[in-house]
Amino acid sequence: MVESKLRFLRSRMARVEQTLRDALYSDGAAECTPESCSVPVDSDDEIGEAAASFNRLVEALAESHHVTDVSGEFARTLSSHIEVTSLSDAALGELHSAGGFVASALCVVRDGEMVTVASKGLLDPERVAASEPVSRAYRTLETIQLALPEDIAVDGGVIEFTPRSVIAFPLHLRLVPIGVLLVASTGATSTEEMQLISGLLPNFAVALNNALSHERLQQVAAIDNLTGLFNRRFGLERLSEEFSRAVRSNEPLGVMLFDIDHFKAINDNHGHQAGDRVLTAVAGAARGVLREGDTLMRYGGEEFLAVLPGAGSEDLHDLSERVRRVIETTVVTDMRQELRVTVSIGAVGFPSTEVTDTEDLVRHADAAMYVSKSAGRNRLTMAGR
Ligand code: GH3
Ligand code: MG
Ligand code: MG
Repeated sequence: MVESKLRFLRSRMARVEQTLRDALYSDGAAECTPESCSVPVDSDDEIGEAAASFNRLVEALAESHHVTDVSGEFARTLSSHIEVTSLSDAALGELHSAGGFVASALCVVRDGEMVTVASKGLLDPERVAASEPVSRAYRTLETIQLALPEDIAVDGGVIEFTPRSVIAFPLHLRLVPIGVLLVASTGATSTEEMQLISGLLPNFAVALNNALSHERLQQVAAIDNLTGLFNRRFGLERLSEEFSRAVRSNEPLGVMLFDIDHFKAINDNHGHQAGDRVLTAVAGAARGVLREGDTLMRYGGEEFLAVLPGAGSEDLHDLSERVRRVIETTVVTDMRQELRVTVSIGAVGFPSTEVTDTEDLVRHADAAMYVSKSAGRNRLTMAGR
C-alpha cells in the first residue's frame, strides 16, 4: 500500500520534471496543472503530508509558470510598439487579462498637463487624469489604493457601476515619474495580483518613456521653433500626401503661398525681436482662419504655405481673402507703437490649374504671389486667372 503510493508520487514527480524540461526551452506553456500533476492526499500520516506538500509545490510551479508566461508576453508586447497610443492600448489589454480588471486607464504628463492616453471600460477616462489619486501617485511615487472609489464609474454595458477596488500605480524611471496606471476590479485585488502587476511596471515605464521621447522627437523634427507651425520639410511631406490623395480621390486641393510685405522695414525700424513677434502673430492669425485638416507651414523666413484639402477655387479664394484681411487687421504692440503688416498672396487650385506634381503647384503659387507683389502688395492673385 505504502509502496504503491510512493510509486505514484514518484511517477508524478517524473511527470513534473519532464514537463518542466519540455517547457524550459520552448515557447509552449507548461502543461503542469494541479489537476494533471498532483497526487491524492488520503491519509494523515507522513505520506499524506508528503503528498500535500508535493501538491503545493506543483501549485507554486504552475503559478511561477503563469508569471513567466505573462511577463514574457508583456515584454513582447512592449517591444513591438513605439507609438504612445498603440503601446498603451496593447499594454492595458495584457494587464486586464493578467490582473482580471474591469477597467483601467493610463495617464502621462504631456506639455505639462496630466492626460489619459489609453483607457478601457471607463465611462469618463479624461476625468481620471484630473483625479486626486492619480496626481498623488505621480507626485509621491506611491501605490494608492482607493477605499471608496466613488469617482470612478465603470461602463458595465447596460448599467454603470462603481468598482470595489481601484489602485493607482505610479510608473517611474529611476524615481522620475513617467505616468500613472489606474486599474479597477469588481473584487479585492489579491497580494499576488498586486505583485504580478508591480513586477511588470518597471519594463512598462521604460517602454512608455521611449515612446514619449519618440513622440517629442517627431514633434521637434516637424515644428518650427518660432511660430509653432510645421516646418518646411515636414509641411512639404504633408503637401505630397495631400496631392496624392487629391489625385486618387479626384477631390480638389488648394495651395496658398503668402509673404509679408516690406518685412525688412519692420526689422530695420523696430529690431529683430519685434520682427519675430510680428512673424508669430501673423502665423497665429492665419492658423486661426484655416480649418483643422489644413496644413500651414513656415515655408521660408517670412513666407508661409498653406495646404487646403478639399478647397475648390471658390473656397480657396474666400479662405485666402480671409487670411489677407485677418493679417491686415492684426496689431503687434512694440514700445507703445502699433505694428501692422500686410501679406501678398498667390493661390493655386488643383485640378482647375493643370499641374503634374507638387513642385509645379508651388511654382504656380509662387508666380501668382509675385504678381501680387508687383501689382502693389496686400492682395491676392489666383493662378491661372
Ligand atoms: P517684400 O514686400 O518684397 O517681400 O519685402 P520684404 O522686406 O519683406 O522682403 P525681403 O526678402 O527683402 O526681406 C525679408 C526679411 O525677412 C529679411 C529677413 O531679415 C527677414 N527675416 C527672415 N526670417 C526672419 C526671422 O526669423 N525673424 C526676423 N525678425 N526676420 C526675419
Ligand atoms: Mg517679404
Ligand atoms: Mg520673402
